[in-house]
Formats: sequence, C-alpha cells, structure tokens
Amino acid sequence: MTRSSAKRCAPDDSPPSQPDRAARGGSKRVQQQQSLGEFFSTKRGRVDGQAVPPGNAVHWRSVGATWVGTWGAPEPAARLAAFDLDGTLICTKSKGRFPKGADDWRFFHPDVPLVLRRMCQQGYRIVVISNQNGLRQAKGTTGLSKKATDFRTKVANIARALGVPLTILVATDKDYMRKPSPGMWSLAQLLNEGAAIDRAASFYVGDAAGRPAGWRPGVEADFSSSDLAFALNVGVPFYTPEEAFAAAVCARPEPLPLPPPTQREIAGLAPSQRNGDPAAHAALLDAVDRHVGKAKEDARGLLAVLVGPPACGKSTFARSHLALRGFERVNMDELKTRKKCTEAVRRALEGSACVVVDNTNPDAASRSPFIELARASGAGCIAIVFSHEPRNLTMHNNSFRAQLAQARYLSSLGPGHTDLGGIPGCDDRVPEVAFHSFFKRLELPSVAEGFQEVICHSFVPTFDTADDERLWNQHY
Ligand SMILES: [Mg+2]
Repeated sequence: MTRSSAKRCAPDDSPPSQPDRAARGGSKRVQQQQSLGEFFSTKRGRVDGQAVPPGNAVHWRSVGATWVGTWGAPEPAARLAAFDLDGTLICTKSKGRFPKGADDWRFFHPDVPLVLRRMCQQGYRIVVISNQNGLRQAKGTTGLSKKATDFRTKVANIARALGVPLTILVATDKDYMRKPSPGMWSLAQLLNEGAAIDRAASFYVGDAAGRPAGWRPGVEADFSSSDLAFALNVGVPFYTPEEAFAAAVCARPEPLPLPPPTQREIAGLAPSQRNGDPAAHAALLDAVDRHVGKAKEDARGLLAVLVGPPACGKSTFARSHLALRGFERVNMDELKTRKKCTEAVRRALEGSACVVVDNTNPDAASRSPFIELARASGAGCIAIVFSHEPRNLTMHNNSFRAQLAQARYLSSLGPGHTDLGGIPGCDDRVPEVAFHSFFKRLELPSVAEGFQEVICHSFVPTFDTADDERLWNQHY
C-alpha cells in the first residue's frame, strides 16, 4: 500500500490488517481516531469557560535558541493539549503561506477559542509548539528583528483572543527543539512544575500530517509530515486541525497518511543491524593489521588515508582502532593548514611510524600529496573508505550528534527544573555546505592512484543507551 492510497477508517470500521501499516503505527492511529468526540463536540456559539481578561502581555524567555512564552498563569497538569500554530490554530488572512505582518492571521476555524477553553476547563494544560526557523537571530546582531517582533505581537493578540492560559514554545534553530525532534515536548515536561505528563491522555494537533494533494477536493498536499512525525516521536495521539476544530469536514473518509519513515528505514538498515556486522568489522581490522604487520616487518612507515564525508565516524575510528594500533593522527581541523598536515605526515613516515590522515579527502587531488610522501619514503599506503550512502544518512548523523548533547542535557535535569540556561548549543554541527562540497568532489580512491589496498568501512549505528537509539531512529 502506498501512502497516498491509504484510506481513513470511519470510527466504526475495523482497523486495517495490512502488516506494513500495523508495523508503522497505522493501527495505533485508528485507535486514536476512535477516541475523538469527547473533546471536540463543542457546539458553535456556545461559550465554555471565561476568557482571561485581555491586556496582559506574553512573558518571553529563551532556552538556548528556543523561546518560551507564557500568557496568563498556566497550571501544571497531567494532560497536555498541544497545538501547532500556523495552519492549525491560525492561518493567514491573506491566504499566503507566510504572514505579511503581525495582523495577517485569523483562527483556523471560528470554534478554535471555544475548543481550547473547553480543554482548559477539562484540566488540560494548553501548549503551543511551533517551528519558526525564520525568526532565528542572525549572527552578530542584537535585539529582535522586525519579523520576530511582529511574531510576538501576533502571538499576544492570539493569546488574548483565545482567552486561556497558554505556554508557547517556539523553536528558532534546527536543533533538538525543532519538530519532528521531541525536544519541545521535553521542555514542556520540564516547565510542568514537577507534574508528570500522561502521554496517552495528552494529544498533539498539527497540519503537517503528510496528506496527499486532493485529500479533500481542491486542497494541496501538506507541505510535510513533521507534525505527525513529532507526535509519533513523542508518543502522543495525533489529530489534524480538521479533526480537532471542524469535525464535520472529516465525517467522510479521508486519506490517512502512513507514519513517516524512521531513519533506519531511510538508511535501509534492518533492525537486526544494531551492533554491526562483526565479521565485516573483523575483516576490516584484519586488513589494517596485515598492513601494519608488513610495515613493521619491513621497518618502514605506513600511511592510512581516510575518505568520507563529515560526521561519518572517521575520527572515532582513528582515535579508537587506529590509535590502538599505534597510528599517529593528522587532522586538518586541528593543524589548520594543508602544509602543516603534509609536514606531520612526512615526519611520521621518515620515522617509520604509522600515520592516518583524518580529513574528508574526497578526490585524487586532495590525496596525492600524501601518497607522494609515502612513495618517497618507501612507506606502505592504504585508503579506508567510509560508507557515504544514502547521503542524507551522514547529514542526519551530523545533526544527531548535535541534538544528542541537548537531549542528554534535558533528560539530566530533574522534574520541575526551571534553570534551563545551560542547554548546549549546536554550534559544533558541520554546516550542510561541507557535505554538498564533499559529494560534489567525491572520487573514490583506487589502487591505480597509488594505494596498496582500498578498504571499506561500513556505517553501522551503535548506541550507549536505548534513549540515544530512539533519538537516532525517530520519524522524519
Ligand atoms: Mg503548521
């Protein structure tokens, strides 16, 4: 079954039996579907609960690059009613995808304030969870941009019109806080004053649900499925805004998107490939040992040139397996210039030592100065190629590394911890341009280039904890 052909079941339909959908959480979604109604049965025109008196401002603070806004006095609660902002609680008046100013908004449906007031009355804490990458503060600037000021003015107006105590979380960077990563949910938990959140009794509503074009006559495809993926990563029931606010629209069948794939599915790695292929890894190390042994026997040096994109595990391999075998590590990031790198390699090889060049070394031109040095000193010379397909896997690993630091920081804080100022940044993440540049220049090394052997190192994820693995293997 393809994602676009998936059909939504009416509440009294039996769940679909396709194993692929069950495996990817489809049956779970059908169950969620059946629990609708309790929340969203507000009749138009009926006002539940009192609006908080207008006039009070949203109080903003920052947790790293994430903004935390508070309006009114939200109470801690075991159940969160969480909503995306754009396309879910509100849409633009101008009908454009992006707002033209602070006033360019209207509620997604006239009943939005009523539904939220009812949720609040039922004891839910209302949390808005929004990605706003465009509001990120430019490097070297201070103060808020006009766009950011407009956004905050708009949120204050929305809060007043909703009239319920609100917590507003806004991710402005591409980090652990950006949906579909679950960081903003962790943040909501920390802001919940020590009260544990019951995920099964909470829910998240968003418009980025991966619905195909024409799911309702005349509508475009959802721009992404990041809201659905976020709910799956967090482990809470998910609803679309149509389900939440305009239930009548969804009384008839509508296409049901399958959950977005996980990283393991994207990378084509079977769940059994958890701790690597021991035989392949042993063969790789055997090959290295053979060359090290031969170089020692001949009393000459050995050069290993690593080839691979950033964040593919080259340095980890060099610092562990190669360091154990006596390799000296030469790295451009640390030595800063190519000249210093070649000098270091020359010195090592002249001393008949083993040396590894731990750079990306994408093409023959970048590798040839090192091969020349090996040739001149009579040293052995091997290349170790790190797996680099699918390309987005290495980019994912890069972002995972940066997110992991933030995830571990948040989970290290106790419940109700409010001093969140120490959250690590993502500044050590390799910029995407470095990946594009690597793949543009990539020429795989060959024996003809001067290597005695070209050895392959295949990527297999290994994790310290189940939480780390869950973060790596989240839905996208
Ligand atoms: Mg949205």
